Amino acid sequence: MSTVQSEPTSSVASRATDLVARARAAQQPWAAKTPEQRAAMLRQAQQAILARAAELAELIGAETKKPLAESYSSEVLGVADLFAYWCKYGPGLLRPRKGKVPSLEMPGKTAWVERLPRGVVVCISPWNYPISLPMRTIVPALLAGNAVVLKPSEITPGTGRWLVDAMHTVLGDVIGVADGDGEMGAALVEAGPDQVVFTGSTRTGRKVAVACAERGIPCDLELGGKDCAIVLDDAAVERTAAGIAWGIVTNAGQNCSGIERVAVHAAVAGKFVPALVRELQRAAADVPELVTPAQRHLVESHVRDALDRGAKLLTGELTPPEQPLPPLLLTDVDRDAPAWKDESFGPVAVLIVANDDAALVALANDSRYGLGASVWGGDLKRAEQVARQVRSGMVWVNNHSFTGAVPDLPWVGLGDSGTGVTNSPEALEHLTRPHLLVIDRASALEAWWYPYGPAMVELMKTVVDRQRSGGLGATLRTLKALKTRMAEIARARQN
Ligand code: NAD
Repeated sequence: MSTVQSEPTSSVASRATDLVARARAAQQPWAAKTPEQRAAMLRQAQQAILARAAELAELIGAETKKPLAESYSSEVLGVADLFAYWCKYGPGLLRPRKGKVPSLEMPGKTAWVERLPRGVVVCISPWNYPISLPMRTIVPALLAGNAVVLKPSEITPGTGRWLVDAMHTVLGDVIGVADGDGEMGAALVEAGPDQVVFTGSTRTGRKVAVACAERGIPCDLELGGKDCAIVLDDAAVERTAAGIAWGIVTNAGQNCSGIERVAVHAAVAGKFVPALVRELQRAAADVPELVTPAQRHLVESHVRDALDRGAKLLTGELTPPEQPLPPLLLTDVDRDAPAWKDESFGPVAVLIVANDDAALVALANDSRYGLGASVWGGDLKRAEQVARQVRSGMVWVNNHSFTGAVPDLPWVGLGDSGTGVTNSPEALEHLTRPHLLVIDRASALEAWWYPYGPAMVELMKTVVDRQRSGGLGATLRTLKALKTRMAEIARARQN
């Protein structure tokens, strides 16, 4: 029997160092181009990917076990939209901002706040959306003038390499790929990039955050979730059941913002629960296998533990390993059980009924995670009010999670879901650093320079007074105090 030899640690570290160094060398000439020039090249990279879209969709399916429909809908289409958005709006978003400098006290100055690239961004990715997730970072990071080294998951190495190879033909070394597992991820952080964007489990994210903090590297974390869907008593039963079933089951539930908890108003439970059971049974035909036996083991352990503690299955059953796991809906789950508290990451949800909106919100907020949540109801004002009380980075009314595919909207969490932001102009603020450039055209000395004297104190007092009371009189007093102060400086400098 042959055994796979693992790579010596020193060689992993030297590969990581080389990758970061190569990206660093390519980054400076790339940053010297205008955003428009970079956008034009990124459009060519988009074409290089989309020309082989069918090949990419097949590869994603082979590595992740996603149905072909989802390889297209959540991966390939997402990539097309990302390039289109950033190439169109990115250059405008990167335009320098003219800062407001008080002209009376600080005359003759022009200030520009520019957004400059951070340098080399290391993007560490999970396997569940192996293209669309890293691309939410890669495309805006490149557009902003960074170089990027992608560390795909060891479960989807082929997809990551395919993506980077396709882009590399157009862009060269500003995009690189690091094959390997967690050891390579850690080595890339050790290699000293200028920014790390990590998407993955909360456990690994914490380690990455510590490693980054020790090296003073800014770090964005997009971590796990335990989303809750709240069903109000005026929800449209059929649409809500169909939407929530999709939220539980899509990608076999291996979705950071998959619905894993459903909190239902007692007044609608009689109609809603059977409808949700029907929808989950209908969805069973489209549920792929979980990505690895380890993932399946985790999901099954949550379900078994809940059943051992007295929970009931409203639909589905634990199947033999050679059959995919069907959608499973649990009820009467102990709120200390992992099925309620921890991320299951499978086609499993826990249903719980409550008597009023406040109790439904309390159930949704009973989690250390805070990625997404949804509120389903007919009265949109009331649903919005409920939505604002849920503690999460994102909340959708009458839908769930789909905005990951909308490049203009932030993907963001809190608590154990991390505080990183991907997608949207807000993400660009993480992928760039603000840089201040001030041009002073004034010829006079400054009123706050040496030597100090009584007129300076008077001037400061008038400025304070002007801030307090405002109005023309205060401005005129400031002007007069400024004149006196300048005369004081001139006199002192003659001595
Ligand atoms: P994981 O944490 O096991 O691995 C993620 C990545 O980190 C992989 O590339 C892995 O090789 C790398 N890694 C492992 N150890 C490392 C270390 N010490 N230093 C640096 N890198 C290291 O996660 P996973 O199983 O691949 O993905 C599933 C998890 O990702 C779930 O918890 C899911 O909720 C989360 N996720 C979150 C989001 C989000 O946007 N919030 C999106 C997708 C997935």
